[in-house]
Amino acid sequence: MIRELMEMGTTFDMKQGKLSLATEGGHSRARVVHAGGDATGAEVERSLVRSVRKNQRVTVHERTLVVDILTDRDGSCCGVATMDTSTGELRIYLAKVVVLATGGVGQMYQFTSNPSVCTGDGIAMAYRAGAIISDMEFVQFHPTVFQTKRGESFLITEAVRGEGAFLRDKKGDRFMLGKHPLAELGPRDVVVREIVEVMERDGTDHIYLDARHIARNVLEERFPTIVATLQESGVDFFTELIQVSPAAHYLIGGVKTNLDGETSVSGLYACGETACTGVHGANRLASNSLLEGLVFARRIAQSIKDSLSRLKPKMPQGSSEGSSPSPGD
Ligand SMILES: Cc1cc2nc3c(=O)[nH]c(=O)nc-3n(C[C@H](O)[C@H](O)[C@H](O)COP(=O)(O)OP(=O)(O)OC[C@H]3O[C@@H](n4cnc5c(N)ncnc54)[C@H](O)[C@@H]3O)c2cc1C
Repeated sequence: MIRELMEMGTTFDMKQGKLSLATEGGHSRARVVHAGGDATGAEVERSLVRSVRKNQRVTVHERTLVVDILTDRDGSCCGVATMDTSTGELRIYLAKVVVLATGGVGQMYQFTSNPSVCTGDGIAMAYRAGAIISDMEFVQFHPTVFQTKRGESFLITEAVRGEGAFLRDKKGDRFMLGKHPLAELGPRDVVVREIVEVMERDGTDHIYLDARHIARNVLEERFPTIVATLQESGVDFFTELIQVSPAAHYLIGGVKTNLDGETSVSGLYACGETACTGVHGANRLASNSLLEGLVFARRIAQSIKDSLSRLKPKMPQGSSEGSSPSPGD
């Protein structure tokens, strides 16, 4: 998968001619590839979007919000209803197969690392269409989210602790020592629970991330986005303690699928954070999300390819068989 992405033009960070590998929470070996220091997702997305745009058989509909999943009389998925967000125009798209990839639910929480689009609307649509939804109580909180001067939540990647940064309480003590064999790099749920306990004990709304002992050139090279974002908020990553607190980060549950990404509604697939494939158990390990999205996207594509010739065009409930197709077909 990594090789395929590189052939597609994704530029991962290299060290002495080999992929540079990092460690994050709960990891026992360095095996996380990364790009642009701390911009892996953005780089993977850039190369995938470029490939899609180059493919003349793919039509991209911008500013098109899916508002519901359509089902036929048998309860199979047969398309989507959408709204053009610039004109408000509603459209129906009929399809033999729909792949839902609408991301997580972070915006349901007051503090989240997620962008504004992560509202869980895709999961709600799948539920309305009759899909089984699973493990919604498994929400992962990220230990180190920084509130910027502009009031935005900014995630400070675990890779900073992978490079040796410490977590300290208000007295300056490293409270994770003795709490987990990996100390600050324990699994996220363990670290977050300790942070919450420390914040309650100390009556504060934050703890501190300390990267002052890490060489300046390492921080600059590995975490350029963090250095710049902290600087914008008047905080110096190299010499100051950084105020951080936990925030909702990743939905482990979602629309239940099998290992081919099929949901319980025939013709409806789910992929990425919206899906609950089961591969993360109850606690995803850092950096397995992008990987899951990529691996399952390929499995879904293969499954659709295998079944497409057997699938017949379907009509939504309430429409007559011979009715003319809608404008969005
Ligand atoms: C700050 C941050 C850092 C992270 N770092 C890592 C990392 O280093 N490694 C890792 O593995 N994971 C990381 N994760 C997690 C990972 O990025 C996400 O789980 C992953 O991007 C989810 O991908 P996705 O395609 O499923 O959803 P998203 O990337 O959230 O995309 C969902 C898309 O669906 C669109 N959408 C939603 N609803 C609708 C609708 N109704 N109609 C039309 N479109 C809709 C949204 O606009 C969005 O474009 C990070 C997450 C965050 C927030």
